[in-house]
Amino acid sequence: MTRKLFVTTALPYANAAFHIGHMMEYIQADIWVRFQRMQAQREVHFVCADDTHGTPIMIAAEKEGITPQEFVAKIAAGRQQYLDGFHIAFDNWYSTDSPENVELSQDIYRKLRDAGLIVTKTVDRFFDPVKGMFLADRNIKGECPKCGAKDQYGDNCEVCGAAYQPTELVNPFSVFTGSTPIMKPSEQYFFALSDPRCYGFLKEWLNTPGRLQSEMVNKVSEWLGDAGEKLADWDISRDAPYFGIPIPDAPGKFFYVWLDAPVGYLASLKNYCSKNGMDFEALLNDPATEQVHFIGKDIVSFHLLFWPAMLNFAQHPIIDKLKVNVHGHLTVNNEKMSKSRGTGISPLRYLDLKMNPEWLRYYIAFKLNSKVEDLDFNGDDFVARVNSDLIGKYVNIASRCAGFIAKKFDGKLASALSPEARQWISRALTNDGAERQASIANHFENREFGKALREIMEIADITNQYVDENKPWILAKDEGKSAELHDVCTAALILFRQLTILLSPVLPQVAARVSEFLNDDKISWLDTTGDAVYRTMLGRTIGAYSHLMTRVDAKMVEDLFDKPAAPASAAPPAAAAAPALEAVRNPGVEAPAPEIKIDDFTKVDLRIAKIVNCEHVEGSDKLLRLTLDVGEGRLRNVFSGIKGAYKPEELVGKLTVMVANLAPRKMKFGVSEGMVLCASSEDEKTNPGLYLLEPWPGAQPGMRIS
Ligand SMILES: [Zn+2]
Repeated sequence: MTRKLFVTTALPYANAAFHIGHMMEYIQADIWVRFQRMQAQREVHFVCADDTHGTPIMIAAEKEGITPQEFVAKIAAGRQQYLDGFHIAFDNWYSTDSPENVELSQDIYRKLRDAGLIVTKTVDRFFDPVKGMFLADRNIKGECPKCGAKDQYGDNCEVCGAAYQPTELVNPFSVFTGSTPIMKPSEQYFFALSDPRCYGFLKEWLNTPGRLQSEMVNKVSEWLGDAGEKLADWDISRDAPYFGIPIPDAPGKFFYVWLDAPVGYLASLKNYCSKNGMDFEALLNDPATEQVHFIGKDIVSFHLLFWPAMLNFAQHPIIDKLKVNVHGHLTVNNEKMSKSRGTGISPLRYLDLKMNPEWLRYYIAFKLNSKVEDLDFNGDDFVARVNSDLIGKYVNIASRCAGFIAKKFDGKLASALSPEARQWISRALTNDGAERQASIANHFENREFGKALREIMEIADITNQYVDENKPWILAKDEGKSAELHDVCTAALILFRQLTILLSPVLPQVAARVSEFLNDDKISWLDTTGDAVYRTMLGRTIGAYSHLMTRVDAKMVEDLFDKPAAPASAAPPAAAAAPALEAVRNPGVEAPAPEIKIDDFTKVDLRIAKIVNCEHVEGSDKLLRLTLDVGEGRLRNVFSGIKGAYKPEELVGKLTVMVANLAPRKMKFGVSEGMVLCASSEDEKTNPGLYLLEPWPGAQPGMRIS
């Protein structure tokens, strides 16, 4: 029976470009998909989509003055360069903001409602009193109620993976204004996960062999508790204004983005089916279909509790076919990636540096296993691994042997092999290759890519040993050893072809070039055992060998990392590199004020302040109202005459310097509790500008300036 694989990666949130963590997941899934496509009796459909709904995108679009749809389209237009760049071959890339997704999400919802699993409750919702709006989960941060991790979003903890309600957060604050949110009542729709039917179903579903990794079965079992007592109803509605899918028969209410995001997998598949004349319903209902998700460990609760329960109680046919593969995160030198620490890796910079994408594919594959473990990118290890395996072991075989075939034998491989050569080949492939091939295939199937590559490199090691012992470069000097040379180079290239086939899920581009060089347009997994190993190669005329891959230069890897963020106000690099030793008197510069003692200076308490909010002051054409955090556990209100120089949204989130011990001053619009510092020119005609001070990165709110 032909296995029909419907494979997905997590849908990336369409508020930003891809980061290297996305590429790791896509590479993992792409390798698995390419392996499957090479097998007999497989039909593979590999789809993804942008996850588009929710408050963060609505707000980001608003900031840019465009619609959420326009914002999402801009992000989507940037996706292909990454996918092409790293040879990730999705069959379809779609969007959750699509008619298919509206239809499928609303249909699932109606079925859940008919099953009695949608309930309404009046709940207190967080409301930002400064901004005057209900706060979405991602607009609230605080401490995780399960593990206590700080700075976690209102829906889900990125440290321990727990899902919860925003109201459960400890010490919550609004990400917009830093203010403590207040509670306001609102009627909301819930998916009744606490219904005993859900526990009964999930318990059984989890424990069905082959669906989940054992670590995940344990983790989700913990969430279920002994009798489902830990399962809480899931709030699936959000109040307008919200960029999302309307809830049927509930005016002003929208599906929470996590309700329709996983439905986006099906929407993308449906879109793909209709574009390719395939029957979507038939595929879903076919017993030979398997749905295979690749996801990260941070979004497990959505995929292992809500998603299967939704599918099951909507009586969706795909529920019996659902398998979820969870991977860990990508760390860099064993640390979480961070731009400010200079440990971030930008996928586009990787490509801009002309680094070979197959180096990264190989390195990631080498380090991947089927467990939910973090994968560490270490620069030195990357250079060593790629240079040793891909260049030193694999490419080396062809570069040492192919030239002799071209020069001495008109590009023609030997039409028969000596018993010795055949012995070496069967040693490398363990007998006729069947056992070796099955073992490697098994590792790929089970996502044990590291084990697969280690085994493939064993074949490369034996092949190199063979070449080293027979030294074709010595044989080539002796006309009498021509037949021997032909024999050795042919055997080595036969093994090189085997290696290429086995590596091709990981190195698709190299495999394509090898197939051209070997004049072999159907490099097939089936040709790696028995007689097929020889049949396709003996007596064949091959093309000219051109170098397949270069070594990684360690300098490239150095350039790959983000430099620690430079201050926005820094001088351009050219000026910084060659400082002017001559002082120039700028027009409009005042003479220094009369001299003071240090005690005079220290009377002024200057502090680093974070601008947590900034808005226009109604009725004033000069003032902006700043809400400042000086690390005191309260926020300060400061009016500043900088309206002509800055827009409020430019300032929110920035650090600046304030006079913290200035006597409060009552103004027409309220009390000002301090003053922010600005640079300006005495002569306003020469330079009318006002320049707010900004500290270098690393400064924290409340630090004293001295
Ligand atoms: Zn936690």
